[in-house]
Amino acid sequence: MNLLEIKNIRKSFEELEVLKDISLTVKKGQVLAIIGPSGSGKSTLLRCATLLERVDSGSIYYKGEPMVVNNRNGQAVYSEPAQLKKIRSYFGLVFQNFNLFPHFSVLRNITEAPIHVAGQRKEQALETALDLLRQMGLEDKAEAYPYQLSGGQQQRVSIARALALQPDVLFFDEPTSALDPELTGEILKVIRELAGKHMTMVIVTHEMDFAREVADHIIFMDGGVIVEQGKAFDLVNNPQQERTKLFLKRLG
Ligand code: ADP
Ligand code: MG
Repeated sequence: MNLLEIKNIRKSFEELEVLKDISLTVKKGQVLAIIGPSGSGKSTLLRCATLLERVDSGSIYYKGEPMVVNNRNGQAVYSEPAQLKKIRSYFGLVFQNFNLFPHFSVLRNITEAPIHVAGQRKEQALETALDLLRQMGLEDKAEAYPYQLSGGQQQRVSIARALALQPDVLFFDEPTSALDPELTGEILKVIRELAGKHMTMVIVTHEMDFAREVADHIIFMDGGVIVEQGKAFDLVNNPQQERTKLFLKRLG
């Protein structure tokens, strides 16, 4: 089943066209990796897919329900706010810089949205949060504040926070880019475990070995277009396009 269907989306910032006719689908249980040089439009694509940014034209469907469609002039028309809010609640987001609330404890970072946005009972939200912290190996950090944690621990809290809202799809934007190499492994391990549980994920990453191992499908972007895509192993081991070959070679 297709969860997310993106068709022919375009996005410009002023004169700069950042996404040029991008189409892709995300199937239930799939792990999709998006790779490409800095500035190629990966974050913008993720932000458009998750409604943090608006496209200029094209359409996006979630489980067949429209988030945005084109009108007769080829301009994007977004669905009603209530519909968008509902669809948005199916998405979990994990960013490069963790984005935790600095003045909230770890526990409160995780329970805040479930209680105040999703309307969960406090006891229920606490139970879920403690359970997630155990899964992340952070059960002893519930009362700590973000500044007392390593980058890797902060990122695990931010993954727990995203999971607490029971998303259908988890989106990661370079989840290990702000981490020292020795902390990267602990985040990749968590993502690998989520893949083992068939969590649907879209991951922007520079970790090519990881992408090849965990992703089902890889999309290579450059200059706002999808240059090449395919099964993860094939794309990394046997790229067809010169630009893809060059990019992979530069990464070593
Ligand atoms: P990537 O994540 O692949 O590095 P981005 O999607 O962040 O690429 O950026 C793609 C291009 O769009 C870059 O040239 C960037 O400078 C530009 N860009 C991104 N966000 C904005 C914005 N809010 N305003 C203006 N330009 C932006
Ligand atoms: Mg980016």
